[in-house]
Amino acid sequence: MKPVVIIGTGLAGYSLAREFRALDKETPLTLITGDGGEYYSKPMLSNALAQGKEASALVLSDAAKMERTLDARVITHTRVEAVDRAARRVSWSGGTLDYGALVMALGASPIRLPLTGSGAQEVLSVNSLDDYGGFRRRLEKARSVAIIGPGLIGCEFANDLQQGGRRVEVIGPDPYPISTLLPEAAGRALQRALEAAGVGFHLGTVTGDIDRESHGYRVALRDGGDLHADLVLSAVGLRPDTELARAAGLEVNRGIVVDRYLRAGDGDIYALGDCAEVEGRNLPFVMPLMFGARALARTLSGEPTPVRYPPMPVVIKTPSHPVVVLPPSPGAEGEWQVEPVGEGVRALFHDPHGRMAGFALTGEACTEKQALIKAMESA
Ligand SMILES: Cc1cc2nc3c(=O)[nH]c(=O)nc-3n(C[C@H](O)[C@H](O)[C@H](O)COP(=O)(O)OP(=O)(O)OC[C@H]3O[C@@H](n4cnc5c(N)ncnc54)[C@H](O)[C@@H]3O)c2cc1C
Repeated sequence: MKPVVIIGTGLAGYSLAREFRALDKETPLTLITGDGGEYYSKPMLSNALAQGKEASALVLSDAAKMERTLDARVITHTRVEAVDRAARRVSWSGGTLDYGALVMALGASPIRLPLTGSGAQEVLSVNSLDDYGGFRRRLEKARSVAIIGPGLIGCEFANDLQQGGRRVEVIGPDPYPISTLLPEAAGRALQRALEAAGVGFHLGTVTGDIDRESHGYRVALRDGGDLHADLVLSAVGLRPDTELARAAGLEVNRGIVVDRYLRAGDGDIYALGDCAEVEGRNLPFVMPLMFGARALARTLSGEPTPVRYPPMPVVIKTPSHPVVVLPPSPGAEGEWQVEPVGEGVRALFHDPHGRMAGFALTGEACTEKQALIKAMESA
């Protein structure tokens, strides 16, 4: 029997493998990954520094243990280079593998800004266990870090690094932190709390040259002035890894285009996780990939099952001022209503019919999360 082949051993690949094995103990299962195949929780990368955790401490199981747990083969340090849909075969330099069904769980890669200056090439990004290991080593001698990107991941790193004893400056063109997910009042509440903890924000501006100095870097700001930092971290967003799918002639938009069955075109090819665009939406978070993994495991074991998403709030790991947001669908009509709750805010998004279609809670208001989800589900 030809195996189910999963490319990628991130949370998407491994969650699917686990769900599939729970339903089907017979079909051979092979996972292929460009990295070492360690099973770890990627969200830990932005809250493990303050806890002093080494990269190895984040590994829950190595690839060999995953092979035993999943009764699967895990091929590590191997980048799949092509998918031959007609022959139902994947290939890489030095090998090929025939598949019965193929799942692309390729993830997303950090967007790299076209930075200039003598230190531009040394700007780091952290999107994998290996990146984290390298970042931690560089951090040992660093007292200050400049973060480019005031979004979700930039703010999580800012809080974690500040709690780990570093001076942190966050730079970006956005008017306020996490402006793509949060209404302004919620972003400002987070900004105030991080500033009170010692984080500096340089918003409404972008970096000019990043030049090497005797220690660290000089980061110029386009609106004038500059700052010094021992390390520069870029956190300006991720782009779904779609190249393999595009080269195989599959439809690609922002992510690999799939339907509710996570099916990419014809011929038993599927996509899951950060690389996938499910019915027009790329949702680069853990909850959607978990629901996707559960549905796809059923489909692959012979019971076609569409994915259905419940309300999926995003919990932002900024312990100085916790935030939870359930963003309204893109382009949804409606208005935010904001009320202060202690140092934080409760922001509710209502559609023109008065129905709640999203919320953002910060600080003390976060305790209302479950009640709001219930209210949305029963409305
Ligand atoms: C710092 C950080 C903090 C986060 N915090 C949160 C959070 O708090 N909550 C939340 O919900 N989400 C969070 N996220 C997002 C979440 O981690 C991701 O949505 C999730 O991990 C994506 O999993 P994935 O398996 O789709 O992709 P990835 O983990 O990127 O895995 C992709 C896999 O594909 C492999 N691969 C790619 N191309 C090839 C190829 N050609 N051949 C072979 N292998 C290949 C890679 O080696 C890797 O194994 C965070 C992300 C980051 C970066």
